[in-house]
Amino acid sequence: MFPDRSQFSGLRRAIPVLVRSGVAPCPPRGGCNGVAASSSSTESQEMNPARIEPMQDELAIAHAGRMALFLGSSSSQGFNLWLKRESGRSCGVSSNVPRLTQLAAIAGMSSIDYARQHSMMGALRVAARPADMASYGAHEGVNFTKRLGMLTQKADAHLCPRCVEEDLDHPKFSWFRRTHQLQGIDWCPTHRTPLIKVRGSDPWALLPQHWMERGEVEVLKLGASDLDPNGFVNRFMEIACALLERPRPFAVRLLVGRSGAGAWIAHQSRGCQTQPE
Ligand SMILES: [Zn+2]
Repeated sequence: MFPDRSQFSGLRRAIPVLVRSGVAPCPPRGGCNGVAASSSSTESQEMNPARIEPMQDELAIAHAGRMALFLGSSSSQGFNLWLKRESGRSCGVSSNVPRLTQLAAIAGMSSIDYARQHSMMGALRVAARPADMASYGAHEGVNFTKRLGMLTQKADAHLCPRCVEEDLDHPKFSWFRRTHQLQGIDWCPTHRTPLIKVRGSDPWALLPQHWMERGEVEVLKLGASDLDPNGFVNRFMEIACALLERPRPFAVRLLVGRSGAGAWIAHQSRGCQTQPE
């Protein structure tokens, strides 16, 4: 169930400002260039089909939520139907592809690029057997993409107030970063300030700035206002963030027997949410 969005209705009028320029070309099947949906669905007819690209490091599920918000969708179910129909109609993708692939198509990106830049698969599936070494988001690994492509690691959504502040300066709206949702990362890797937890039940349905405006956030009690110089924590943060940039899993044989590797993978896997798509 989406939160009350009436106070954010102005966002729809602001779509031309909110949609970034520099749009990547769409597959040559009619083009994702803003052609209105032809379905008989009322929601599809009302939703503005303008392309809303993911922002840098934006988490896939948060991108979907922001897209639904900007397009004025009244429910997550309605948006999902629209996404499936529009990605097939305008971009030519099959209706049974993973939701991540649908989002990639509608954003004008390949599933592999989208997975590497916007999913958490690099942290959720660190290593694989030789037979399963395909890139994250690749057709050969479609079952992994279906299972993991839209997941995050923490049980709650987190944001950095300084990132929000900078986002509101430019481009005038905020978004959820993947690096803030990594298990064990309690500070913003960019600003080195404590992250804030969103208390809302459907955090991705609104933007970080909205949760802050509503006061539905909770400051983490970390015992320090800024990240203390701590070699272990800093190194952990660097490695976790680097995993997100990986195009494919490591080979299991490279990690087996290396000190701490098993513990690392177990730690990263513990926080995975297991909701199906
Ligand atoms: Zn930040």
